Amino acid sequence: MPDYTSTIDKLLKQLFPIHRSISGKGNRDTLEAIQEIVPLDILEYPSGEKVYDWEIPKEWSIRDAWIKDSNGRKIIDLGNSNLHIVNYSSPVRKKASLEELKKHLYFIEELPNAIPYRTSYYKSDWGFCLSYNSFMKNFHKGNTYEVYIDSDFTDGSISIGEFVVPGKQTQEHLISTYICHPSMANDNLSGIIITALIAKELSQKKLNYSYRFVFLPETIGAISYCANNEDTLKKIKAGFVITTGGGPGPFGYKQSFDTANPINYFIEQTFQENNISYKTYPFCPYGSDERQYSSQGFRINTASITKDKYYEYEYYHTSLDNLDFVKPEFINQTLNIYIQAIQKLDKNLTYLNTQPYCESMLSKYNLYPKTGGGLKPAKGIENGLHILLWLLFYCDGSKTLLDIAKQLEMPLELIYENALLLENKGLLKIA
Ligand code: ZN
Repeated sequence: MPDYTSTIDKLLKQLFPIHRSISGKGNRDTLEAIQEIVPLDILEYPSGEKVYDWEIPKEWSIRDAWIKDSNGRKIIDLGNSNLHIVNYSSPVRKKASLEELKKHLYFIEELPNAIPYRTSYYKSDWGFCLSYNSFMKNFHKGNTYEVYIDSDFTDGSISIGEFVVPGKQTQEHLISTYICHPSMANDNLSGIIITALIAKELSQKKLNYSYRFVFLPETIGAISYCANNEDTLKKIKAGFVITTGGGPGPFGYKQSFDTANPINYFIEQTFQENNISYKTYPFCPYGSDERQYSSQGFRINTASITKDKYYEYEYYHTSLDNLDFVKPEFINQTLNIYIQAIQKLDKNLTYLNTQPYCESMLSKYNLYPKTGGGLKPAKGIENGLHILLWLLFYCDGSKTLLDIAKQLEMPLELIYENALLLENKGLLKIA
């Protein structure tokens, strides 16, 4: 198992402070940092472009934001936490009473030390997020406050990182993660790091399938990418949306919409082989970008392997989802589960027998025991001939190697090795 713990530690510290959003410099800086791991192409889709039922918004920049009390003391300062500003806040410079201001302040009473994460991408608004403790300490009825947000909206673009690792086959799996969350470690710095390191690992391997990696802002980024790459996406075999894989809580996985799809089987098998207990979250049409990839036009079976899944942990979408909460070791574990599951997925090929009329003369290919007559049909994995005959019998383009492995009650790896043998002899070809 590859150990990337020290690389992960470095990346967490490097990427955590970056102020990301659905557009802007923070996202480009993040993609540039990933380019040091794998050579991403960076795509820019312009503001105003219509993508299905959506429109790419203007690019948002934020330079400064604060609130001062009547003594001129900064009681909220963007410099202390990227989460203090509601993402996509409009520019503001005004004095306001607490009554007026309160509509624009967000805190969580039940988690009094946490600064919540809030966005307002599609509704023109502004706001500040702060801990409940800070609210109680610094804001008082009857007082007046000075509010300053130095932000702007320009005709720019959203930025997407793309990287394809080619395999023997052109058919692809999709591996997608989102880069729009500022300064939260599990959601979704963990996902960005896991995705980058899977890409690095796979780019060093010989693969059967090709793998398409995308780093994009959630929702609008995935929709824009689908709209600009519709034909490619329609041909994707299956995919992962990589998110929240680094918390101290339980492992789990969100199933793809078709529970019988092999991707779900391989994830469960990988957990079991590693003696890891896990939660299963059935597919639902909310969550992350599997919403777009699973939609009717694409129907890509997309799953997520998680450790402290989004929605499920107490610190979700708050400042407490930080570098104390997430550990490099946890991210490394999740990364390894992904790599193992992908290696299984990569062996699940579909073949065709090149000689469907009657049986092939196996001795011609050195695949049949030299002395005839003494051979009795036998079961058991030791008997290579048994597997070859079943493969030639089943491989009509309708069954995957996993289907055949299940049918024969044998490991996929063994079936795969024998299928490669037949492929090398020209008796099987990829369907
Ligand atoms: Zn989130």
